[in-house]
Amino acid sequence: MRIAPMVAAAALCFSAACTKSASTDPYVDASLASELRQISAIDNHAHPAAVSTPGQEDQNYDALSMEGIQDLALPAPFREGSPYFAQAWRALYGFDQTADARQNRSRLEELREKIEKQKGDLYPVWVLNQSHTEIMLANRVAMGRGLTPDRFKWVPFADMFLFPLDNTEMKSKDPDKKIFFTREEQLLQGYLHDAQLSHIPANFDDYLTFISHRLETFKSGGAVALKFEIAYLRDLSISDPQREAAERVYAIYSQSSEPSPEEYKLLQDYLFRYIAYEAGRLNLPVHIHCALGGGSYFREANANPLLLEPLFNDPTLRKTKFVLLHGGWPFAREAAAMILKPNVYLDYSAFMYLTYPVEGARAVRLYLEAAPEKVLYGSDASPFSDTIGWAETDWIGAHIAREELGIALTGMMHDGELNLDHAKQIGHMVLRENARQLYGF
Ligand SMILES: [Zn+2]
Repeated sequence: MRIAPMVAAAALCFSAACTKSASTDPYVDASLASELRQISAIDNHAHPAAVSTPGQEDQNYDALSMEGIQDLALPAPFREGSPYFAQAWRALYGFDQTADARQNRSRLEELREKIEKQKGDLYPVWVLNQSHTEIMLANRVAMGRGLTPDRFKWVPFADMFLFPLDNTEMKSKDPDKKIFFTREEQLLQGYLHDAQLSHIPANFDDYLTFISHRLETFKSGGAVALKFEIAYLRDLSISDPQREAAERVYAIYSQSSEPSPEEYKLLQDYLFRYIAYEAGRLNLPVHIHCALGGGSYFREANANPLLLEPLFNDPTLRKTKFVLLHGGWPFAREAAAMILKPNVYLDYSAFMYLTYPVEGARAVRLYLEAAPEKVLYGSDASPFSDTIGWAETDWIGAHIAREELGIALTGMMHDGELNLDHAKQIGHMVLRENARQLYGF
């Protein structure tokens, strides 16, 4: 998520909480905290920015960026003045604030630019080193400068394939949808153009072949998973339509006017299942945004992980692995229930934006008490504002996620659910080993 220049000069508070190290945290066992700090993490979900030359902005860090959204409806932890920001600036750039906020702002920019310049193309790798992250899964339309394939693994987006028809009705629902659907149409148009098509094919089979070819191109281009942000566009309830019915809708409306919402949903549902099936064939786990979303028009009830259960129960899709992003927040219990399905995983990325560590840790504990081998660390690091870049959100996300994991595991130790050795072992699984198993690296 990125918001426009909202977080400006005033975001310079400082509290005791900023300096607290995990080992002195009363909620986290000291030996466990030190073990978790030493683990080189695999980050299941983030949006790193590429190195860019001045004047050139990186637009590829998300298919649906929050730029242009009027009201982000941001929960309290990440609002202007958050103590997290000062802590990250100090750790990353050695920035210490003084009383004068305006002077601070330019000093901060100076220090950041100095490091960016010094590191050059190695800046993204330097950022990962600061958060003790070995590998970051990069949700991007395309990779870019400095995002080297040994440290950054590509996760392209697939939503645009679901909406090939006239989207006028979808866009008219609210101002945010207008921005989102316009962007999806541009991305689909780009892929059609790459395939030397000026328009979607008239024949449904040809459209499906076009999608498969693009997914294969993603795979050969280094993709390790596919990402859906569908909850920003419609609900997560995916029915199981007959192919003939989907083909009929496509045949009629690919050439003419707008389908009814029911007809269009049927086609989208069929296409989603088609892509999920193909993702299984290509061994690309399917990532689904499953949580509260940015923007005041986001429909939370439409993002409940239980809506995906029929998809997880489909025997023909059991070769496809699904990853619920952001722990299904706030439906943590529901998400914990879903990871009992053999092909379903989750990450708890983005918790820093959504809640504070003590509450986030309660959710993490629910997941660990369901299926610890299916729980993945993620930061959801992302360019956020003029003063909070992806380096800051990565650093904050990595610290908070380790803290949440520590609190959850310490609570389980206190309640006799596991001993220290077992807690450390689960720490390694969540921060690193579960992802290695899932992606094979
Ligand atoms: Zn994200």
